[in-house]
Amino acid sequence: MSEIVVSLPDGSELSVAEDATVEDVAYEIGPGLGRVAVEGVVDGELVDKAAPVHDGAEIVIVTDQSGEYLRVLRHSAAHVFAQALQRLHPEAKLAIGPPTDEGFYYDVANVDLDAEDLDEIEAEMEEILEEDLPIERELRPREEAIATYEDNRYKREILDDEAAGEDPVSFYVQGDFEDLCQGPHVESTGDIGAVKLLNISSAYWRGDEDEDTLTRVYGTAFESESDLEEYLTLREEAQERDHRKLGQELDLFSIPDVTGPGLPLYHPNGKKILDELGDYARSLNLDAGYDPVETPHLFRTELWKKSGHYDNYVDDMFLMDVNDEEYGLKPMNCPGHATIFDQKSWSYRDLPVRYFEDGKVYRKEQRGELSGLSRVWSFTIDDGHLFCRPEQIEQEVNQVMEAIYEVLDTFDLDAHVALATRPEKSVGGDEIWEQAESQLRSVLENQGIDYDLEPGDGAFYGPKIDFAFEDALGRKWDGPTVQLDFNMPERFELSYTGEDNEDHRPVMIHRALYGSYERFFMVLIEHFDGKFPLWLAPEQVRILPISDDQLGYAHRVKNELGDFRVSVEDRSWTLGRKIREAQEDRVPYMIVVGGDEQEAGTISVRDRKEREDQDVEIETFRAHLEAEYEEKRIEPDFLDE
Ligand SMILES: [Zn+2]
Ligand SMILES: [Zn+2]
Repeated sequence: MSEIVVSLPDGSELSVAEDATVEDVAYEIGPGLGRVAVEGVVDGELVDKAAPVHDGAEIVIVTDQSGEYLRVLRHSAAHVFAQALQRLHPEAKLAIGPPTDEGFYYDVANVDLDAEDLDEIEAEMEEILEEDLPIERELRPREEAIATYEDNRYKREILDDEAAGEDPVSFYVQGDFEDLCQGPHVESTGDIGAVKLLNISSAYWRGDEDEDTLTRVYGTAFESESDLEEYLTLREEAQERDHRKLGQELDLFSIPDVTGPGLPLYHPNGKKILDELGDYARSLNLDAGYDPVETPHLFRTELWKKSGHYDNYVDDMFLMDVNDEEYGLKPMNCPGHATIFDQKSWSYRDLPVRYFEDGKVYRKEQRGELSGLSRVWSFTIDDGHLFCRPEQIEQEVNQVMEAIYEVLDTFDLDAHVALATRPEKSVGGDEIWEQAESQLRSVLENQGIDYDLEPGDGAFYGPKIDFAFEDALGRKWDGPTVQLDFNMPERFELSYTGEDNEDHRPVMIHRALYGSYERFFMVLIEHFDGKFPLWLAPEQVRILPISDDQLGYAHRVKNELGDFRVSVEDRSWTLGRKIREAQEDRVPYMIVVGGDEQEAGTISVRDRKEREDQDVEIETFRAHLEAEYEEKRIEPDFLDE
């Protein structure tokens, strides 16, 4: 039988039988993919997995696990929102409406919406699902598309930019509604099982502060009503443990207006946690043979020109003039570390050289994008940079991965791992890329790590392994990372003398065990719901005297607990209220002391699970605290024993 050739998202081509279906293509790519394929996208159109493919087709395999189908469905729900909006508010102008990890949004102009409007629009959306309108792709001449959007500058700009040069242009049509769109979409509005509009905010067109302010409506959609219900319950729980809410309640940090946007202040409670995190990372780094270094917060822009940040990153940098010379706050720590490496000459025997620094960086993110600790202007990276010989990559990455897994294990966190390989535009020769990618792959395989391959998603300067944390709502947050870099050593002309007495370029590896402290702190606050393990808790033990008569004894107990973070509750409240307050503050252990305890020289211990043990020797409890702290146990477990 003759064969046809189809192309895949990474740009590669695949020969398949002439009568092959989408499913056959999936099996051809890999049996694993074949088994989980649910649909396909052929030339931008979502089709059944049984649909035939044709010569030259562009194929994307859609699987359940990848969540791609849900994204397609949510993109369709965004269109349903726009359709409902136009039925009820014909004056509204549509800008852009993509799917997101949690659902979708649509940015619209020329309309004022409040919560009541959302209810009406949502009801109309449900109507549209009932109508079960087929969603069809239509190709139209470019001229016609431009005419359609004569009085909509947003769509016209999309035509000029994203759809530049396309003719004909792709539209999707459902009943009385049409939208300039690449798709893909579900087959009919009835395929969307359930929709919900969540909230309204505002956004700048194209995220640009100098541009129009648009109304952004967020919503979500699922295949079934029960999936939606489950999501809404999780969302409510997530809002309860939102790090911004807990950050205030537990007095951890604030981001007040007066200090500027995205510039967090850490209060004493938050700083205690950050210090514990810092000590832990430091000990892992020292164990792994890293040398601590320190660099300032700003450099001459000459350095940023050398590193390439000035060319590629200048819009995100804070620049300032000092005595007629331009300086910039550092958006990254790497150029500083590369410069330290460059201050002396190295032999191959000295490599690898490993530097680390808790380095504060500054990046001017769009104000509209700033949110709590997840997106900020100033943040600290637990930043490490390694300089090694090409053949040392595997050994070094192996060591970094072990440290990352130790971190995940310590905090009981799960993460998705992705290996991103060479993009179309890249620096460095074929040989170094192949050598590097195969070493990364063999680390992942030897450690038995489940990972997604993201072909072509690497940085232009090297391949990387990224970790992402996923929260209960399926939102992904950047975590640890290991990135190879063939570019910066080139730009800084770094070298070492090889065995052959010639000069050689080292490979640079960027790595972070947490990612940024801010992002990691946010993940931890929400992951633990503010109930930090003993070793992190800002207040580890609170002593509750039953009456003021035991205040003196309470302080004696505090002294005997030595270095732990212990406080004495000295307000004249009832014991019940003191316990409730300590529970709300999420203190791991409470010690209750009354007349009996004072007389016997013992204590009563309570934990956050409302368990209690009486007549405990102070020494016994102290020894337990030491072990629990030392071993970084997740749950306070004195009362398990
Ligand atoms: Zn669309
Ligand atoms: Zn770096």
